[in-house]
Amino acid sequence: MDTRFAISSYPDATVITKKLDDLIRLPIYSIGRDAMAVYEQSYFDQRCPRSKAMIKEAKQYIPGGVQHNLAFNHPFPLVMTKAEGAYLQDLDGNQYFDFLQAGGPTVLGSNPPFVREKVIELLQDGGPSTGLFHEYEYKLAKKVCESVPSVEMLRMFNSGSEACMAAVRVARLATGKKNIIKMGGAYHGWSDQLAYGIRLPGTKGLQAHGVPSYLFKHTQEFFPNHLDALERTLRRNKLRGGTAAVFIEPIGPESGTRPLDLQFNKEVETLCRSYDALLVFDEVVTGFRIGMSGAQGYFGVSPDLTVFGKVIAGGYPGAGGLGGKSDAMKYLSAGIQSGVKIHKALVGGTMAATPISCVAGYYTLEEIDRTDACRKAGRMGDRLTLGLQKLIEAYQLPFVAFNQGSICHLETVGTMHFSINWKKPWTIARVINETARRKKEMEYMGSAYMAEGLVTLAGSRLYTSAAYDEMMIDQALEAFERVFSHVTCIKD
Ligand code: PMP
Repeated sequence: MDTRFAISSYPDATVITKKLDDLIRLPIYSIGRDAMAVYEQSYFDQRCPRSKAMIKEAKQYIPGGVQHNLAFNHPFPLVMTKAEGAYLQDLDGNQYFDFLQAGGPTVLGSNPPFVREKVIELLQDGGPSTGLFHEYEYKLAKKVCESVPSVEMLRMFNSGSEACMAAVRVARLATGKKNIIKMGGAYHGWSDQLAYGIRLPGTKGLQAHGVPSYLFKHTQEFFPNHLDALERTLRRNKLRGGTAAVFIEPIGPESGTRPLDLQFNKEVETLCRSYDALLVFDEVVTGFRIGMSGAQGYFGVSPDLTVFGKVIAGGYPGAGGLGGKSDAMKYLSAGIQSGVKIHKALVGGTMAATPISCVAGYYTLEEIDRTDACRKAGRMGDRLTLGLQKLIEAYQLPFVAFNQGSICHLETVGTMHFSINWKKPWTIARVINETARRKKEMEYMGSAYMAEGLVTLAGSRLYTSAAYDEMMIDQALEAFERVFSHVTCIKD
């Protein structure tokens, strides 16, 4: 198994959780209102007029003016035209350091020429799709199986959400049981049945507008790091249909925004084994980013099913896959069934496993492997995080910075650190109001970073790639410092 991991030292979840607990008790520190007004005028209005005009038009045709949740930005989203390595360029010709990385897929940096050339070659030969088998379906599946020891077979999907949906079905068929347990706050795509306990632990169906509550009859959540709560739920489920699977984001909910104790995953694995539930690792973010063998390689865990997304198609469309042990994967059908002895899950996708996603995924994984890209990106994440921690100290801010390799967190308001306690229902409205207020400040911070040439994920997460070098990280830190110098305590 490949043991080159992006994480050089695992963050102490207890220490970080304590800091985040303190952060959400403090008043909000954010970009000063005067500085924000200057950014809005001198940057967004004066230097981004073409983006502004295009978004104004787009709002007539696209709800909210953007198609992608992560592209939302105050005071308006910027239109990107070029992406190369660690840089992005907008319609008005402004350049940025890219710490969003399309939401995670581009461990090699944007648009690496080696992968692009292979995609163009393929397009010239056979076009984007035929609906029939292509050699790269096999090559990618083999590469994934060789890289991730628990994965004996792989099926590609259009997205991580679809692959999670398939995992639910396979788990129920393989175990003959009903219930799915997930960690509160974790994200497993936007399908109806998994739209439960999203963003904040304890929210149950509160974020699932448009989903009838009966769909959650067999979905439950437990709080991160609370093994006792998980075991209680597993025990209770024995009397009501059993547990088909426990879904885990292995570095913690929302890509490690709430970090997990180092031993947590192993302990979840032991619990799953003793209750005969399948363990599903959602490695949509961590797969081929934490290392070629995934977060499961790092934690030494062997899940039954693994969900892939993002890096598996190298930033190209069709980024979803479900891998796992043959015993479970045999419950996925290939083609419409008739007269088979075991019931299989009918899943599909006209555009799943297209030659484009498979060729891009295959050469991306080969290149990550060849160049030790996960570790390089991780070292850049370490340097960025350390630099941010020093700035936080120098400016005496209550912010919290930590990283799991190339996944870096810069928590300025701790929005995602709240949770809902149903034993105190009168607090729910307070949590909802407080998180909304803090999210607004996070957007302001995100837009200040943007005006200083830094594209972040929603103003609080930063992905580094192997396209960065030390000098670029240091330049980015100078830009962060300019923003921090305008931060002040926000009075209500
Ligand atoms: N699982 C995790 C852990 C994710 O982070 C995401 C997307 N951010 C998904 C599933 C869903 O993947 P997709 O957006 O490709 O549907």
